[in-house]
Amino acid sequence: MSDALPKNWLFHVDVEAIGWLTLCTEGSGPNVLGRRVIEELDGLVAHIADLAERKRLKGVVLMSGKPGGFIAGADIAEFDTLSDPALLRTALEDTHALLARIEALPVPMVMAIDGYCLGGGLELALSGHYRIATDSEATRIGFPEIRLGIFPGFGGTGRALRQAGALDALSIMLGGTLLRAAAARRMGLVDMLVKHKDQLRWAARKAVLEGRRSRPVAGWKRLLQLDAVRPLLANRMRRAAAMKARPEHFPAPKALIDLFEMKGRDWRTLLGGETEAFVPLLATPTARNLRRVFFLSEGLKKLGLRGKDAPVFRRVHVIGAGIMGGDIAAWCALRGFAVTLQDLDMERIKPALERAKGLFRKRLRGRAEQDRAVARLIADPEGRGVARADVIIEAVVEKLAIKRKIFEEAERRARPEAILASNTSSIPLEDIATAMKDPGRLIGLHFFNPVAQLPLVEVVEQKSGGAAVARGASFALAIGKSPVVVRSAPGFLVNRVLMPYLLGAVERLERGEAPERLDAAALAFGMPMGPIELMDVVGLDIGRSVAEELGTTIDSSSRFARLIAAGKLGRKTGEGFYRWVNGKALKAKTPVAREGLEALGRALLKPLADEAEKAVAEGIVDSPDLADIGTILGTGFAPFLGGPINARMEGRV
Ligand code: NAD
Repeated sequence: MSDALPKNWLFHVDVEAIGWLTLCTEGSGPNVLGRRVIEELDGLVAHIADLAERKRLKGVVLMSGKPGGFIAGADIAEFDTLSDPALLRTALEDTHALLARIEALPVPMVMAIDGYCLGGGLELALSGHYRIATDSEATRIGFPEIRLGIFPGFGGTGRALRQAGALDALSIMLGGTLLRAAAARRMGLVDMLVKHKDQLRWAARKAVLEGRRSRPVAGWKRLLQLDAVRPLLANRMRRAAAMKARPEHFPAPKALIDLFEMKGRDWRTLLGGETEAFVPLLATPTARNLRRVFFLSEGLKKLGLRGKDAPVFRRVHVIGAGIMGGDIAAWCALRGFAVTLQDLDMERIKPALERAKGLFRKRLRGRAEQDRAVARLIADPEGRGVARADVIIEAVVEKLAIKRKIFEEAERRARPEAILASNTSSIPLEDIATAMKDPGRLIGLHFFNPVAQLPLVEVVEQKSGGAAVARGASFALAIGKSPVVVRSAPGFLVNRVLMPYLLGAVERLERGEAPERLDAAALAFGMPMGPIELMDVVGLDIGRSVAEELGTTIDSSSRFARLIAAGKLGRKTGEGFYRWVNGKALKAKTPVAREGLEALGRALLKPLADEAEKAVAEGIVDSPDLADIGTILGTGFAPFLGGPINARMEGRV
């Protein structure tokens, strides 16, 4: 062990000769495996091996000293310093050697897991001899690496294969799936569950004393590793992965599947081939940009107020139980808030309550949890909740006079510190606030449809500024959304950058380009859905009103206008630019010619990038970074390009 005392680990041996190895990494964040942490562990493992040789140790329990989590993964902040492939290879080989030494210890090392155990954390856990996890709501076990454009690099590919078999191991690595404790146990990644974290130490102690050892996967699951079977499985997985994302955009899935096909006969050979396949991935533009997106999203989480200024939110009152209001109310109830939902009468609230039940059934485990959420969401046609709420969100029809009146009254009845927010898409906050005594109090909380699926909330600041937006951002974070602060101006950020792109595509369609080709070109660029299909999903009527709000009039002789006049509004009416059957657009079967597709994709996305630059120049958002992350979260803009402004700097749009 190096002379310096470890800064991140505690180790002591108790009277029963059990070593307790506790990780508590420096800083307030979750435990992450940085170089220093790994170096210190290296020294400690040598010390442990020495004690074991001298029969002074029966075994070791490794656990986290930080509440709520085991290890969140490798330290992503260090990845950029490892761009030199030789350095990276050495760092990976050192870590592989360390984990192999843990595996070869003559005494068992038991991993006691409570909370998240992800990426490099899971790889370390898999090098131990037995794994116990708390079966709690907070425990999540998995490999999220693929979301960063890489795959496990600390031997996780081989050891996951050993424990779970090819099908499960590859599917969780390719999907970036985070498993609950019970699912991880069924897969063989974990050997034992305890109900409560207080039982972990005791269970781990017993496992050491009884010398328990985890078993590798057995039976038919092993057959999938045979030379004759691997190519078949690999081909199937390659096809499935290519449906989700193109290998030229996301090389990691294909690289992992290739590795499995070549080396997956045995877990050790797979592990042995891992570093060679991993090294080129970390330096790809995709991996670099996905790290950028990761850090930008993490940055949004820091927007909320902290310390003594941190607001506490308990009650939310939503006015308007339509598509948006109903779903916002349901989302807040899902996230644990007491919610009152107001509309003109009970009949208009009921459908929202029914939809909410569906959401709770989908997202909450167990009847009791679901019932509690139902009980948290209360129909309130008389608007009694206004007086007690910490946050009041208005989502009524887009009519200025109605919104004005609502806030005039709400301000009178609300608690002085309550947030007053409108979900308006197009009416300037300044106009809505005219009847208020303190107009500066009004902010926008602009959610996106469907609320449960889209992570972004634009927190809209009036021109006069003010402290209310910081509270608004705190609230968005409290309900698990990502806040981007935007200035009050038509379209805010997302609709503003999206519209010129969608309208540009529609214009090409009017000029005779096939919708299928336009959509295919956007997909080739890296968008999750093509612009014509997206326009159908948004609704042509909504598209037109946003376009008009942004100053574009739709020519009444255009196909766009004629479709609207004929009531063909897109997916919701069964026909728009496409015909829709069972929620799917019917597209022409003839394959789209590949020629010129990439160039068309870039041309389609150019107006979006132009507009993002303008939005920054006009101060709609504070920085190019915010424009990038807001556009990615709000429009699905190709994350592997790191956002429209980043893509432009890289010369890709
Ligand atoms: P909607 O028509 O589905 O719902 C509006 C609801 O408001 C209706 O249930 C109506 O009965 C109710 N209402 C009308 N007057 C009321 C009053 N005085 N008191 C209480 N309730 C009243 O509309 P929506 O699509 O949910 O849009 C609501 C708001 O959200 C609008 O400001 C819109 O711009 C904004 N928005 C909509 C979307 C979207 O995709 N639909 C996205 C973001 C923001």
